[in-house]
Amino acid sequence: MMELQLHNTLTRKKESFTPLNPREVKMYVCGPTVYDRAHIGNARSVVVYDQLYRLLRHLYGPEQVLYVRNITDVDDKINIRAKEQGVTIQALTSEVTGWFHADMAALNTLPPNVEPRATENIPQMIAIIERLIARGHAYAAEGHVLFHVPSDPHYGCLSRRNRDEMVAGARVEVAPFKKDPADFVLWKPADAEDDPSSIFESPWGKGRPGWHIECSAMSSRYLGNDFDLHGGGADLMFPHHENEIAQSTCANEGSHFARYWVHNGFLTVNGEKMSKSLGNFITVRELLDRNIPGEAIRYVLLSTHYRKPLDWSEKAAEDALKSLDMFYSLLADYENDHKFFNYPSLEAMVHSEAFAETSTRDMVELLCNDLNTPAALALMHQTARALKQSQGRERERYYKQLRLYGMVMGLLRSDARSWLEKRGLLAAPVDVPAAVQQLAEQRLQAKLAKHWAEADRLRDAIRAEGFEVVDKPGNTYALEPVKP
Ligand SMILES: [Zn+2]
Repeated sequence: MMELQLHNTLTRKKESFTPLNPREVKMYVCGPTVYDRAHIGNARSVVVYDQLYRLLRHLYGPEQVLYVRNITDVDDKINIRAKEQGVTIQALTSEVTGWFHADMAALNTLPPNVEPRATENIPQMIAIIERLIARGHAYAAEGHVLFHVPSDPHYGCLSRRNRDEMVAGARVEVAPFKKDPADFVLWKPADAEDDPSSIFESPWGKGRPGWHIECSAMSSRYLGNDFDLHGGGADLMFPHHENEIAQSTCANEGSHFARYWVHNGFLTVNGEKMSKSLGNFITVRELLDRNIPGEAIRYVLLSTHYRKPLDWSEKAAEDALKSLDMFYSLLADYENDHKFFNYPSLEAMVHSEAFAETSTRDMVELLCNDLNTPAALALMHQTARALKQSQGRERERYYKQLRLYGMVMGLLRSDARSWLEKRGLLAAPVDVPAAVQQLAEQRLQAKLAKHWAEADRLRDAIRAEGFEVVDKPGNTYALEPVKP
């Protein structure tokens, strides 16, 4: 098996990835808080970890990777939005979750194996909080339960911040019941006017969990206390991921929690931070509604290395569309010349072991270098150029190669002709009169019999009727209208 090299935030180094159990890779990614449409910054994180998931499935086998991504369906932002809209929390979160699934499917992302919801894991959160209290890492105060940061000597190991930076960076609420300004909330009391579906019973009274405890509870429920890989946006590194580590390692003696931490970089729009106040806040749905296909959005999101900042611009979207149009027109040309080629059967091949070792090897090797997606896309372009310039068996090989590379990248998943049609790049089919078809057939026969003069005469006769004969490989031809 090829060795996967991943940058581990814990060590700030590129390391070779070895799962605890080579038969089952376990990966957790922080999912959305479902109160609004996913924006392209959210989409970047989902696409990056989808690409990593696809690569792991490729390396270890599709059944050997367990991918858990949570849904945060209890949160202050959700409570506020539901109140604004005068709907129940459940109505809001189930509608937004549906939007999220549809938008992410449009980006060709695979669903995770488990997608737990916070509200369905409250007893697991309470159990961890109780363990933290019992072990002296947390305390109850005025209806709240807080994690006591100075009780964890390893706190800060991921973000490597010092104490002052941590307190400032967390923008922690100063509250009289806190023993230390850095202490963070594990459980908070309910407000009297909260929607009943966001209020839960606990040993500390009615309330709801803090955000960080969710991920500790859901990862350990589905992946165990120790698992292989934890992903999320770089903005979650502190305090969210730092707090997850503190909660999980302090609640479970001897646990190291996740072994590899992967963080994707920020996304900007035309060089600026995306924000509602700047008016440059772009949702995935808006782009899809503007007829920018999900595949083009995915292409842009993979065109920059995942750890680097990515700038979204109209130009980037146009370039992605240009590349995809070019790929699809080459694929359509080939499929047009080989009418009986059944490309969906390639789908089965891409996950077969023999294939993983041969046809996609060059691309997998690039991805194994810390998920180098820009290099993988460059390889697709190189293959497209080779497809354009080749003939016969060579051409078939490059055609399959390009389709397979597309499958590894979650790209080129549309039917080539329908893509070109939707993009307005397909000339309308022309009715060729029967008489012209007959002349063309006679010309082919003349050509096969090497009656060149007769073949030339027939070509001129066809041209006089307004059509051009274009010879194709394998003694076939196409009839195209003469260009004015
Ligand atoms: Zn999380």
